[in-house]
This record gives sequence, structure tokens and C-alpha cells, in this order.
Amino acid sequence: MVSFNVSQLLLMGPGTVREFDFREPFPDPTNELHLRGPISGRARLIRTSEGILAHSNYHARVVLECARCLDETVVRVDGALDEEFLPITDVRTGLSVPLPAGTQDDQPLINEHHEIELNEILRQNILTNLPLQPLCAADCPGLCPECGERLDASHVAHAQPEPEEAPAPVDPANPFARLAVLLHDDEESN
Ligand SMILES: [Zn+2]
Ligand SMILES: [Zn+2]
Repeated sequence: MVSFNVSQLLLMGPGTVREFDFREPFPDPTNELHLRGPISGRARLIRTSEGILAHSNYHARVVLECARCLDETVVRVDGALDEEFLPITDVRTGLSVPLPAGTQDDQPLINEHHEIELNEILRQNILTNLPLQPLCAADCPGLCPECGERLDASHVAHAQPEPEEAPAPVDPANPFARLAVLLHDDEESN
């Protein structure tokens, strides 16, 4: 849960800056992000004439499937976000503040407790920063197309099947061939 109470900052003049380091467990109720451990980063909050501008660098560790060998691999995701949050409650009077005309539906807001919540913005930011081709290692050898095992040093190469058009080698020592000749000779001598 990454959130900041900005009631003090809202009492300051525009241009006032507050900085925080954060390291927080992050809610992921639908297990969509597959986070491993908390999210950490630094937030820089700037009082604007309208509200609070939040800038944050963050990093998170996410469990993904290696694109080559399909093993679970933990990938570090680094991202940054910039959002201006507008108040819905006046911090001095406690009265509701009308949003400026033309405010978008997805405009980030400072809630009635004068808190900025970065959770939803961080969640979307992490999703857009996930690597498209995560690898467990840069030189991951991938899987054998024949047996499905990992193509590492312990994988034994498979014998190549004989090409069909090659004739079977004639073996003069074939005991069954010799037996056939002996039986044939026997029949003739009788
Ligand atoms: Zn891999
Ligand atoms: Zn194999």
C-alpha cells in the first residue's frame, strides 16, 4: 500500500517539495502482478497551485515465466511515474472542493483524508513495464524440441533416426541368413 498523507503539504505554498523513500508490501488481490517482495522507491511530492504533483521512481521484483525454458524467473522492474493529484476536500475548511471544469474521469485525486494513493497508478505502470521476453538468464539455452528437457550441459543429444531411403546394410555374419542357407542345403541333400 503506497500512500502519503499530504495535509501538511497542502497548507504550504506552491513549489514546496517533500520527498519520501518508501518500501511497502503491495496489494495484489487477484495475483495479477506476481510480485515478489515489496515495492520500493522514492517519491517527490510538489505542491502546485491546483494540487500535488507526484513524481516517483520505483522498483519491484516480479515472477515471470522465462520465454525460452518456461522456468519461473524473478525479473526486476524499474519504472517512473508523474501524476498531478487534485484535492476533493479543502484541508483548512473540510468542505468539498469542486473539480476544475473539464477534469477527466481518470484524474488522480487526493482523497477526503488528504492522502495520495499510488497503488492503482503503480499497478498499471508495472504492467506496462513488464519485459515482453523475460529470460531466466541472457544465455538461457531453451528447451529441446524433441524431449522437452532443458538444453543445458546435462542434456544428452538424441540419436538421429536413419534416413528412410538408405538401404539396410548387408551383414554377412547375420546368423539368420546363414541358418536359411544351411536349411536350404539340407533340403537339397535329402
Ligand atoms: Zn530460461
Ligand atoms: Zn532432448
